[in-house]
Amino acid sequence: MSRFWSRIVHQLDPYVPGEQPRGSNLVKLNTNENPYGPSPKVLEAIRLGVSDRLRLYPDPASQTLKQAIADYHGILPEQVFVGNGSDEVLAHVFHGLLKHDSPILFPDITYSFYPVYCQLYQIDYRSVPLTDDFRIDVADYAQTNGGIIFPNPNAPTGCLLSLEAIETLLNTHKDSVVVVDEAYIDFGGESAIALIDQYPNLLVTQTLSKSRSLAGMRIGFAAGHPDLIEALIRVKDSFNSYPLDMLASAAGVAAYEDKAYFEQTCQKVIHSREKLTTGLTEMGFEVLPSAANFVFARHPSHDAQSLASALRAEGVIVRHFKKPRIDQFLRITVGTESENQLLLSVLDTLV
Ligand code: PMP
Repeated sequence: MSRFWSRIVHQLDPYVPGEQPRGSNLVKLNTNENPYGPSPKVLEAIRLGVSDRLRLYPDPASQTLKQAIADYHGILPEQVFVGNGSDEVLAHVFHGLLKHDSPILFPDITYSFYPVYCQLYQIDYRSVPLTDDFRIDVADYAQTNGGIIFPNPNAPTGCLLSLEAIETLLNTHKDSVVVVDEAYIDFGGESAIALIDQYPNLLVTQTLSKSRSLAGMRIGFAAGHPDLIEALIRVKDSFNSYPLDMLASAAGVAAYEDKAYFEQTCQKVIHSREKLTTGLTEMGFEVLPSAANFVFARHPSHDAQSLASALRAEGVIVRHFKKPRIDQFLRITVGTESENQLLLSVLDTLV
């Protein structure tokens, strides 16, 4: 390792993103992308929208996009912060809102970027075990903390926490920021953004990568009390004043404008998820109840890593995590009907 690296970088155990194979015919069910592509209006906005203005810097506040997000959720633009994908928004959240004297709390099985941000920003954390049936129990968070963060639905389990349970958490931790990472909320959950006016300690993050099919453009946002948003803006301005480029802003605005396309695609994914769950269950898999665009499934008599390798040999990639408690699960993104059918027919030959 380089002697020029800082101590923090030496110790860093970086996040490993899911594989993005190039130029292959693999059926890609490994990174929870939307199989249906963005709205045609988004493509039109990218093509036409800004070509005459690309020589200029973009609006550092991304005001038009903030307004589109605020209008969609019935909140004010002052309650919205936008960034380069929700990963970047979350990085600012860890840096600006979750670094305190007490450890922050998140589930032991969750988005694996959280411990990486903690290492990077030197934040103390404690992971709180999920219940035996892989759920978050808010009663387990009754301990001193410098903030709480979890995805809802959780990843990679797909399990949803109710808004009532989130309100219990908010009421019992009034002095802590509670961050709800809603990357997958549009596939069957109810957004906690509806609660931000009532709870100044609530911050909700979302992404346009999943339900709006714009993973390649990198657009995410946070919604919360203007005080929380102000902290994120301070961190962002100290890091990169222009987080979103013009094309991303134009695409994001168009994605919010085409509500019908968005709703239709989400419904298609939800319908396919239910069919996929039934197909897997009929083959003997245990499938956790999912409110996301993926399912988390294990077979009682087949090793998950071997199944993942055998699927890959047949041209289908899914995600397997070598982590205690979940190393017998496969995380399978909901694909198109024909991709799901192919997955099921290959699995049928393996189990
Ligand atoms: N949160 C969770 C729980 C995720 O699974 C992901 C996607 N890997 C993200 C946030 C980040 O999404 P993006 O950066 O594409 O907005």
